[in-house]
Amino acid sequence: MITDKIFFWVLPVMYGVFTAVFMALARSEGGSASARLGTAAFGMGMLAIILDTQRDYFPSWFFTLAVPLHWLVLVYTADAFLVRHGDRTPRRPIAWLLSVGLTINFAATFIVDNVAIRVPNASIVAIAILSLAVPRFFRHRSSRLDNITAFVIAMCWLCYVVRFAFYFTLDQSQEYARTSQWSQYMMIFYFTSAIFALSLAFLLMMAITTDLVARHYTASTVDALTGVANRRGFEALLEKQSSHRRFGAVLMIDLDHFKQINDLHGHGVGDGVLVATSQTVLNCCKGFGEVARLGGEEFVVLLRPNDTKAVLQMAELLRSAIAATRLDRPYDSLQFTASIGAAMIETDEEINDAIRRADMALYRAKESGRNRVVSARSSYTNGQLAVSVLN
Ligand code: GH3
Ligand code: MG
Ligand code: MG
Repeated sequence: MITDKIFFWVLPVMYGVFTAVFMALARSEGGSASARLGTAAFGMGMLAIILDTQRDYFPSWFFTLAVPLHWLVLVYTADAFLVRHGDRTPRRPIAWLLSVGLTINFAATFIVDNVAIRVPNASIVAIAILSLAVPRFFRHRSSRLDNITAFVIAMCWLCYVVRFAFYFTLDQSQEYARTSQWSQYMMIFYFTSAIFALSLAFLLMMAITTDLVARHYTASTVDALTGVANRRGFEALLEKQSSHRRFGAVLMIDLDHFKQINDLHGHGVGDGVLVATSQTVLNCCKGFGEVARLGGEEFVVLLRPNDTKAVLQMAELLRSAIAATRLDRPYDSLQFTASIGAAMIETDEEINDAIRRADMALYRAKESGRNRVVSARSSYTNGQLAVSVLN
């Protein structure tokens, strides 16, 4: 039937378009492993369908080669999604399945030439591959997209099982693909394959672009040198906080005479000091708040505790921890210190106002000799900033 022929050509063309799209995504800036695996999966899918639908040219060879390609399509498709979660289909069982399946596939073509072995063999291996993949999809559900993908993959598995059962209702005595019953089976096979290929291609494209956007967002909100939030990341954090107050205090930290470190030891050592300082600050504040590098050698810490004494003790701990921080050899004798301005976030006070007060306290800390913590007291609300030098 001419419609059959047209339908059979729609699939390879569709696979071809998706292969091109995934290839373009793989080659774009920040091309991901998902896009590369997607290219492999849809490229092989295209080849498998061309071989399968054109099998009349070389009946034995085309079908025998289309089957393992079809298995690989399933492996690569599953891996394209799983790699996003640092996972993949288990190599050993897959390799074992592919070699046993391939041996049976070749034997049932070139030794015994038995379609009643070939076709079920193709289905059983496909079902086994999906059975290995499906639980992993359900294990890695961290977004709505993951949930939908897990559902589609599970439906795909179910479809293979149903098709496999349906196969046994066919008249096995008739020549393969020559009866209308068989041709109906083939139509159903290709139609369901097309639906799953289409759904999975769109899901994979969405997954790749979502990851791309997330990577760009991270790159724009995280400081590349120290790995802590940058000013933009800090502002995003503030926006998230504005609806409900979660932080009790703010600390502004500025390294002392940092320019001298750069001048004396070079910019590279200066960078090392910034990295080491941010590590120290992160370690000290873990579980107590958020850290950001506002620029240069200035860090801000938002602390959750709202008890003044606890906050000032933490600030003092931070100050002494920074003073005790050392670089790796040969710069392990280099000492550096920081000044810290602290401000409690008062009830009904905007965080930005508290940051301004902490900044003024920091200025006082610099003025009064550096390497110390100065807190801005809340009496600032009277229009005057009162500070108390703690160290
Ligand atoms: P103070 O004690 O008053 O804070 O003096 P300071 O020298 O620390 O402050 P100043 O603002 O004079 O110098 C800051 C220096 O930080 C100047 C700039 O070259 C350097 N700097 C800014 N960003 C970076 C960076 O990413 N890496 C390095 N190595 N240096 C940086
Ligand atoms: Mg400084
Ligand atoms: Mg500074």
